[in-house]
Order: sequence, then structure tokens, then C-alpha cells
Amino acid sequence: MTLVLDHTPPRETQAPDAAFRPTLAGMSRARLAEAMAAAGVPEKQRRMRVGQLWRWLYITGVTSFEQMTDISKETRQALEALFTLDRPGIVAEQVSVDGTRKWLMRLPKLGHEARAPEVEAVYIPESGRGTLCISSQVGCTLTCSFCHTGTQRLVRNLTASEIVGQVLLARDRIGDWPGAARPDDKGLLPETDRKITNVVLMGMGEPLYNFDNVREAMDIVSDGEGISLSKRRITLSTSGVVPEIHRWGELSGTMLAISLHAVRDELRDELVPINKKYPIKQLLDACRTYPGVSNAKRITFEYVMLKGVNDSPADAKALVRLLAGIPAKINLIPFNPWPGSTYECSDWETIERFADIVNKAGYASPVRTPRGRDILAACGQLKSESVKLRARDRPGADGAASSPTAGD
Ligand code: SAH
Ligand code: SF4
Repeated sequence: MTLVLDHTPPRETQAPDAAFRPTLAGMSRARLAEAMAAAGVPEKQRRMRVGQLWRWLYITGVTSFEQMTDISKETRQALEALFTLDRPGIVAEQVSVDGTRKWLMRLPKLGHEARAPEVEAVYIPESGRGTLCISSQVGCTLTCSFCHTGTQRLVRNLTASEIVGQVLLARDRIGDWPGAARPDDKGLLPETDRKITNVVLMGMGEPLYNFDNVREAMDIVSDGEGISLSKRRITLSTSGVVPEIHRWGELSGTMLAISLHAVRDELRDELVPINKKYPIKQLLDACRTYPGVSNAKRITFEYVMLKGVNDSPADAKALVRLLAGIPAKINLIPFNPWPGSTYECSDWETIERFADIVNKAGYASPVRTPRGRDILAACGQLKSESVKLRARDRPGADGAASSPTAGD
């Protein structure tokens, strides 16, 4: 059974762009300093004020300016005239029987957008931990054949603030701020101090194709004076954007997961088409030299179990051979079906046989139990209705006025 709440007005009744004030929630220190400048805070005071705002935004999680009691009323009013503390809007919230929660979130429209784009984020509670899976793009440029998001064209990259906004909104909804009331969770939320103990970039989109914004967002989320989530508890999953892997490790240093899914280039070309550009050998070479990789900081290899496609004992043996020498964990993911998907999930015995071979080779290879399948919240099931408008369909586009003259 799932619960669906609709919090937002229909698109037609949303505020016009002229009234739009950006949100401070999700901003970096540098952007907050710019916001302070715009609100007329004297330069000498800005550093201190940014420190205060930072704590209100990321430690306390306030949602109104009045709550910022150590900031003067005038400054609060000046900030409020220009900015909000809004999180992404909630279009729908679904709670699975297993406690998994999925939010369809609406983001503010950027200048040219006719419609506010929508993305999904998923929270998975377990005993002693809670993992938040967030999106980095609306849609995806890649077209992995077993992935629902891959059927949605890229609409746009998320801003850093929108990526952090997913974390803030999830914390609001599960009562993960100091002193917050516990929501009615039927005992399914973890009993830990913090309910979000891990963040994974495994929602919609390819995070390494939105490198700068994802990096800025993860720096905010891991900042020791704020949300304070260690980079060891943040995992970026990539389909294999080889040229960016090393740079990500150097500049951000989170944990890394690789969507491998096949042990032969011929099959991986079909399942994960970016493989045609960066084949398996190049991908694994990038893993071998990932900054900080060691037995204490292993790379996770994700392997989706597709019936009759990549699930034979020979595949399992080849997988083990392929990863030899790389400090690795292997995550076997039962394929999660979605409307229109052409694959089937491997049988349970087949998955067990595969896991056995991998385990005997010395890898702890937990089979990831599908969570939230009843609300299409499991890996690869995320997709929103957002579409990218063609240039000529955008508001203000006027074919006649803008068409070039020569040769037309
Ligand atoms: N774009 C990134 C991160 C998002 S996908 C990437 O591809 O790694 C997160 C994980 O879910 C990836 O390992 C992806 O291959 C996997 N996945 C996609 N569709 C799936 C499905 N239908 N069932 C199970 N896992 C899926
Ligand atoms: Fe994009 Fe990842 Fe889905 Fe591939 S698996 S289409 S890279 S979101």
C-alpha cells in the first residue's frame, strides 16, 4: 500500500517568474556571501553572517527567516525581500510497505523553461542506517537499455543547490533535524541519531556529466560545520565516464561505484552504450588508479542480474578474473522491471549460483534486496514526466522573427 500526497498547485496556477526569489537553502558559502552583498550586508560583517546562516541552514534546518534569532531583524528582512528558504516542491510522496520513501520533486523553472522540471529522490531505511538516493540530472543523455531513466531524454543538469535541496527536503520529511518530531513511520525509520547516514548519487542522471554542480553539492553536504556527512559515506555511481573518474577522485574524493553489468565489450556495448566510447579495459584502468583506492576504500561494482543475458556461471567467473587486483566490492542487483522494459530478472537460484562463485573468490557480494519496488522506487525505476522543449516550442520563441535570412 502506498500513500500519495499532493502538495503543489497545478502547473497553471504557479507563481509567475517575475515574483521568483532564489532560495538560500542549498547554497555554498561563496554564494551565500554574494547573497549577503545583494542584501546590503557590509563587507566586514559578511563572513560572520555567512557562518550564522550556514548553521541555520545546515545544522538546524530552519525553514523561516524569523527562526534565525542571532541575525538582526533588518538583515533578515533584507534577505527575505530577495531570497526564500524553499526546498524543492513535493509533487508526490510515496511510502512503500517496507518504509522506503520516494519523492517526486518539482524544481524552480530556469529562465527559458516553460515547465518546472521534476526529479525523484528515494530514502531507504535499514536497521542502523538510512540511505538517501539522489538525482543529478533531469533525465539522462545515456541510454542504458535496462534503465527507465535512460528512456527519458536529458532535460537539464541540476544546480548544486537543487542537489543539496533533495537532502534538505528528505531531512524535513523524515524528521532528521535536531529536535524534529518523528513522523508516523510504523517503526521503520532507523533508531540512529541521524536518519540519513549515507548518500548515493544513484538516482536520475549521470553525475559525472554534471561534474561541477555535483562536486559543489557534495562539498556542502560533507562540510564538517554543517550537514557533516563524511565523504566515505557518499558514493557516486557512474556508467563509466572514464576521463572524469580520476578528476572526481582528486577533487571530491567520495566513494565510487561503477555500473559494470557485463564482462564482455560486445554485451556491455548493448547494455551500457557509453562502453563503445570507453570500453571495459579503459574503465578498469581508471579504477585501478582511482585516488585513495585501497582495501579500506574499495570500489563497488554494480552488476544487474538480467535473465539469460549476463547471469551464467561463466559470466561470474569472468567477472572475478576481470576484477583481480582491484580493491573491489560487488553488488548484484536484481533487475527491477518498469513499464515497457524488455528484460526479466534472473531467477533466484541463478542469482544465488552467481553470488556463490563471486563469494568463493573472496568478494562479499551482497545481493541488493530490491526496496520500494511497489512504488517504482528501486534502482533504475526512476523517471519523471519532464520533457525538454524544442527551441521553437519555448515561450518567446518566434520562428519568423528569429529565423536567419541568408539561404533560408
Ligand atoms: N547514471 C549512473 C547513476 C544512476 S543509475 C549510473 O549509471 O551508474 C544507478 C544504478 O542503478 C546503476 O548501477 C544502474 O545501472 C542501475 N540500474 C538502472 N536501471 C536498473 C534496473 N532497471 N534495475 C536494476 N538496476 C538498475
Ligand atoms: Fe543514465 Fe545511469 Fe540510467 Fe545509464 S543507468 S541511462 S547512465 S541513469
